Amino acid sequence: MSGESLRALLADCGEPAWRAEQILQATWQPYIEAFASMRQLPAALRDALDARLVFSTVSAAAEREADGGNTMKLLCRLRDGLTVETVAMESPARTAGRRRATVCVSTQVGCAVGCPFCATGRMGLSRSCTAAEIVDQVRLAARALHAHGLGPVTHVVYMGMGEPLANADATLESVHVLIDASSISPRRITISTSGVAPGIARLAGAAPGVTLAVSLHAATDELRDRLVPLNRAYPLARLLAAVREHAAATRRRPTFEWCLIAGVNDSLDQALALRRVAYDCRAHVNVIPMNRIEGSAWGPPDAATSRAFLEALQGIRVTVRDTRGGDVDAACGQLRAELEARRVLRPDGTLSAPRRIAVT
Ligand code: SAH
Ligand code: SF4
Repeated sequence: MSGESLRALLADCGEPAWRAEQILQATWQPYIEAFASMRQLPAALRDALDARLVFSTVSAAAEREADGGNTMKLLCRLRDGLTVETVAMESPARTAGRRRATVCVSTQVGCAVGCPFCATGRMGLSRSCTAAEIVDQVRLAARALHAHGLGPVTHVVYMGMGEPLANADATLESVHVLIDASSISPRRITISTSGVAPGIARLAGAAPGVTLAVSLHAATDELRDRLVPLNRAYPLARLLAAVREHAAATRRRPTFEWCLIAGVNDSLDQALALRRVAYDCRAHVNVIPMNRIEGSAWGPPDAATSRAFLEALQGIRVTVRDTRGGDVDAACGQLRAELEARRVLRPDGTLSAPRRIAVT
């Protein structure tokens, strides 16, 4: 809920407007789990909030830990019983006292784009998430980090299940609420898209401070049509023009993501084509060795092929993303797919196994 709508609701309850700030702050405290624990409010107001509002639209259906407790994967149950995945990762300080904790949120239950290397793509789309469900994933993850002695949340990435710009209204509203109500700065928010060109233009106008990440994965239309089927609607020339316009309007450096798949997009030709477009868009490149998924023979290339690919990107800013959480199937959509396959996850989102599954 934005500050504005909360102030309107408080006026309706006969409460002063300054209470809104107090309630918003309390809403983001990771140790507060219900309106009833907002002890700073009068009891009658706590009851009124409880009667009129939902404290959280998501709850944890399952939780897994990896990386010695520094990565947590949450299966979030929505109020209609559907489930999405949220990941919280704590990274060691790069400079003293500056630890970062990143939350990765889902924007849709499943995804209609259907990229063949992605576990979410195989599920198809059930429905889009509301803005509240996106924001509440960040709050739930903040509480999970806090319970493990980690946090606070410093970064949010829209890289979970779903295509954020196919759900642009809720995505943008959630970004505005995060910026308005939490202490997360827009620069620390990244929206990843498979290439919805009109959505990229909208993003530049509505949320110019956030970082744009584009899941490129192929630098020729022929290959990208196969890897990211949305390319048939918005081919590379149109997509890259939208990326350049976004960069010019926002003065932010875009990121290109490249899920490296052995024998598919790891050739030197693709590397050189990627280098050209990255140079052209002044983009940072994130190379992600493919996480294997159930039912696909594709996987990451061997070390020598990866090295040759990276060496061909000379002169471009490149990060090789570490594959944290691989031991808990923490790549997009994999936890839900695995629990369904084991029939641990019932169709209504409840689990037929202990709530917490610890992985060591
Ligand atoms: N739908 C959006 C955001 C969610 S996916 C998008 O596609 O950008 C976030 C990132 O994870 C994307 O770059 C996606 O291509 C990548 N990804 C999906 N499945 C993967 C896998 N099996 N291994 C590595 N990266 C994967
Ligand atoms: Fe959808 Fe992104 Fe997965 Fe493609 S990679 S199917 S766009 S979630």
